[in-house]
Amino acid sequence: VKASGTATVTMAETSTKEQLRAMFDRQKRAFRSAPMPSREERIQNLQRLKTVLLDNQDAIIDAISEDFAGRSRDETLLGELMPIAQDINYTCKKLKKWMKPSKRHVGQHLQPAKAVVNYQPLGVVGIMVPWNYPVQLAVLPMVGALAAGNRVMVKMSEFTPKTAELFAKLMEDHFSEELISVVTGEVDVATEFSKLPFDHLLFTGSTQVGRIVMRAAAENLTPVTLELGGKSPAIISDDVDLTEAVERICFGKSFNAGQTCVAPDYILCPRSKQDAFIETYRKVFNTMYPKLNNNADYTSIVNERMHQRLQSLVTEAKEAGAGVHVIGESDINDGSRRMPLHIITDASDDLRVMQEEIFGPVMPVIPYDNLNEALDYVNDRPRPLALYLFSHEQDCQRRVLEQTHSGGVCVNETLLHVAVDDMPFGGVGPSGMGHYHGHEGFLTFSKAKGTLSKGKFNAAKFMYPPYGGALGKM
Ligand code: NAD
Repeated sequence: VKASGTATVTMAETSTKEQLRAMFDRQKRAFRSAPMPSREERIQNLQRLKTVLLDNQDAIIDAISEDFAGRSRDETLLGELMPIAQDINYTCKKLKKWMKPSKRHVGQHLQPAKAVVNYQPLGVVGIMVPWNYPVQLAVLPMVGALAAGNRVMVKMSEFTPKTAELFAKLMEDHFSEELISVVTGEVDVATEFSKLPFDHLLFTGSTQVGRIVMRAAAENLTPVTLELGGKSPAIISDDVDLTEAVERICFGKSFNAGQTCVAPDYILCPRSKQDAFIETYRKVFNTMYPKLNNNADYTSIVNERMHQRLQSLVTEAKEAGAGVHVIGESDINDGSRRMPLHIITDASDDLRVMQEEIFGPVMPVIPYDNLNEALDYVNDRPRPLALYLFSHEQDCQRRVLEQTHSGGVCVNETLLHVAVDDMPFGGVGPSGMGHYHGHEGFLTFSKAKGTLSKGKFNAAKFMYPPYGGALGKM
């Protein structure tokens, strides 16, 4: 661990655990000496965070692009830097209101007294980051945690080492290690990190690792927010214009090459429209991405392992007799891992493509004959992080909204519910627990401390023994 606070820890250094613990203790001590940062201080930290990241946007774009062997520059602007700037602006604007103690009603039997809920910082917050939006998913939780007056320790993903190194350096250069420490390193470091007795731990990643992290946190009774994944469906209703629906699905599925936690995973399509859906998709995709080789707008798959995993999902489906419709150039020879979209039809339920979160440009289409069948399909499976409905009919919208459970929903859109600063973001069941973004982020990282205050006059003496049966009946 560097003295200035940014840690690059490997297990070769046998004392990783002690180093992480020492860093945690330094933050904890600093918190104790200044447990209630003023609103001005918090805003100053948030504004500095925004300035540092925006001033270094070219370096961030380059680092992420290097980690992905080709991440679209515009996608890094839209998917990392814009949400950060928006969220910080919104948070700074609202912070006064959020920090204001909330007066509560005091019942007659407790009068005279005042009841107030104060939003108190928790202390040291741990944040664990995946690789797919490595800066956004480090910074947005930090915004909530810092706005609520906490200190943060951040563990970056081992799959985006260039970004992790740059982010660690930027934080080290502009913040004290007692406020923000960034930890890089492999899974063994992540394991030790998750065992620290944080006052709150926010983990973003897979459902499988989420289970492990929650178990580690349970040892310390550390509360967790788990931002996980899952298979997010897009339901196309009979009443909707296909081009309109496909354009919005194609945007959401191809952004970051489908490596997005809320990307549409599979499509539920009226049986009579399945062929037209695929043809429309081909047109729309080819308009958005006239070529894939050397197309700077189309992001590459993050690493060889993920690329092979996606290829193997397709191969398995093909060998089992499913239809595979390749959309976009299939012959990629530009040195990247760009992958065309593969629409899968007639896939049996036991295939991995139907069971696992896809997280890339592969998309099963499942035909249905009536809406109830589509709703049953969704409800028979684990609750997803997002659900997308394409319909302009109010009755259809109401039925889908009332009869399905998911972390969030877009009606006639994909992905963009995540970009609404004033809405909670989080999963349900296996797609996650707890929320952040905007006010919910502030609340997640605060202790809502109820405080009852009395003056000299004591009217509560009727509660003191000896009772002598004076209370009678309720
Ligand atoms: P991952 O679960 O493999 O890794 C996430 C983090 O956990 C990394 O920092 C990693 O170092 C750490 N980690 C890995 N193994 C660990 C272990 N055994 N103990 C402790 N920590 C460990 O996820 P990923 O591959 O980086 O990201 C993809 C997944 O993340 C997908 O499932 C996706 O849906 C999900 N995701 C969710 C959201 C959301 O906001 N809900 C956002 C992005 C990604």
